[in-house]
Amino acid sequence: MPELPEVETTVRGLARFLEGERIARVSVNRPDLRRPFPPGLVQALTGARVTALGRRAKYGLIHTDRGQTVVFHLGMSGRWRIEPEKPEKHDHLVLETGSGHVLALNDARRFGSVDLVDSDALGSWPPFVALGPEPLGPELTPKYLEKAFKGRAAPVKPLLLDQRIVAGLGNIYVCEALYRARIRPDKPAGEVSRKAIALLAPAIKAVLEESIAKGGSTIRDYAQPSGELGYFAAAWRVYGREGQPCPCGGKVARFVQGGRSTFWCPECQK
Ligand SMILES: [Zn+2]
Repeated sequence: MPELPEVETTVRGLARFLEGERIARVSVNRPDLRRPFPPGLVQALTGARVTALGRRAKYGLIHTDRGQTVVFHLGMSGRWRIEPEKPEKHDHLVLETGSGHVLALNDARRFGSVDLVDSDALGSWPPFVALGPEPLGPELTPKYLEKAFKGRAAPVKPLLLDQRIVAGLGNIYVCEALYRARIRPDKPAGEVSRKAIALLAPAIKAVLEESIAKGGSTIRDYAQPSGELGYFAAAWRVYGREGQPCPCGGKVARFVQGGRSTFWCPECQK
């Protein structure tokens, strides 16, 4: 399942082919993904110029010079295929640029979505309204987390997964960031020390940035025929490592928290 770093890498990869380009042709090959494609999508995009690409939480943004933004979500299995050699069964949306680049949004399981939103109303688009700050943005500071955690009895891990507290953080990244900041995942958020929070905010940014950098190392492949944007494996320190040794001498443990697997080191995380 694509997480924030995969979406960020996808957006950066797409930017190389779309930014500044006019969209010459748009094909919508089925009526819906998780929900119907917006009516008039083809008309809205044909002839439009892409001014910029961006990301909010796990959504990719394609801004156009017509004051509208295509907002896509990759769901469980979505990926953009760059310059595909030949069409594939699940290429549901295909964009062809004025200079001949072809980009296909492929989504076999169709949990993804494509929406068309007025660019100046993105902040009030329902899925974005309640989102907290971007983890890689300047708003996510120790001070912000201190305020968000203050007086909260809820365990810190599910709180960090709450999109209203921080936008777009997934299970893997929360496990890894808590490990780096040496915070017990089930510690009541209000009891996490100021010192630990001072480590947590940069740890969240670091795990995401390292993953994006890893994904970025595959970017050189984007220019090749049938290059694909979307997935890469990173070396996790605790995630998926139950029973394996931690450098501290302890062993990585796992428990289920709010229906999700939490990986942690009971020796280092207090
Ligand atoms: Zn340890």
